[in-house]
Amino acid sequence: ESVYEAQGLQKEYDDGSVKALRGVDLQIKAGEFIAIIGPSGCGKSTLLQMLGALDWQSSGTLLYRGKSLKDMPDPSVYRAREIGFIFQSFHLLPTFTAIENVQVPMFESDIPLGQRADRARELLKLVGLEHRINHYPSKLSGGERQRVAIARSLANNPSVLLADEPTGNLDSANTKSVMELIVRLREEKKMTLVMVTHDLDIARVASRTIQMKDGLIVNNSVPATSPQ
Ligand code: ADP
Ligand code: ADP
Repeated sequence: ESVYEAQGLQKEYDDGSVKALRGVDLQIKAGEFIAIIGPSGCGKSTLLQMLGALDWQSSGTLLYRGKSLKDMPDPSVYRAREIGFIFQSFHLLPTFTAIENVQVPMFESDIPLGQRADRARELLKLVGLEHRINHYPSKLSGGERQRVAIARSLANNPSVLLADEPTGNLDSANTKSVMELIVRLREEKKMTLVMVTHDLDIARVASRTIQMKDGLIVNNSVPATSPQ
């Protein structure tokens, strides 16, 4: 079952003076863990933004479960209900506590108001932060902030996780534990995971590695050591 299908995907910025994607063809199946690697500026984040409907292609097609993302009537509902986002810089709201941040995507869900705080508490427990639920992001360490962001990404039980350098701002101990957490949650919840990373050790854990260069996919392979 195909989750994403891209054909001839191109993305230009600044009236065409920047060509971030130059014709990407890609199919992602349900349950895959894809690592996207490649040098800075090759288009990794741009591709992830297209998959998340945070931005739209200049030309080419991109389907999510057979439907064009570009033609979707309500992208904010798609983003909130189908996708969990994890960013390098966490993107938590500074004036919201941990438990409030986790509830933000629920604004776009049909989870009853009276159940949202309980659900957020459960998710914080799942990421090992039950003792931090009323802390503001500024009072949390980097690893803890990313755990809050991971709990938030699960708010509406998404089927896809999109992660852009999720360990890029973490030290090596937190990198290891945050990666283990993401990998475990993905397995437990049977999510499709697409992760941009510079870390080849992380890429090795993935079921498929996609290497990009200058806005194109230059290598698309299942590694010999792959778990599936
Ligand atoms: P990567 O994630 O691989 O580092 P990006 O997708 O962020 O690469 O960027 C690809 C290219 O597009 C780069 O040249 C970058 O400077 C450019 N770019 C990305 N976003 C924008 C934007 N919003 N406006 C203009 N140029 C952009
Ligand atoms: P992350 O949280 O993943 O680290 P950042 O906070 O680094 O993300 O922000 C990346 C954002 O910067 C993206 O939305 C991307 O489109 C934008 N961007 C990247 N390159 C450029 C550029 N050359 N000009 C304008 N915006 C850019």
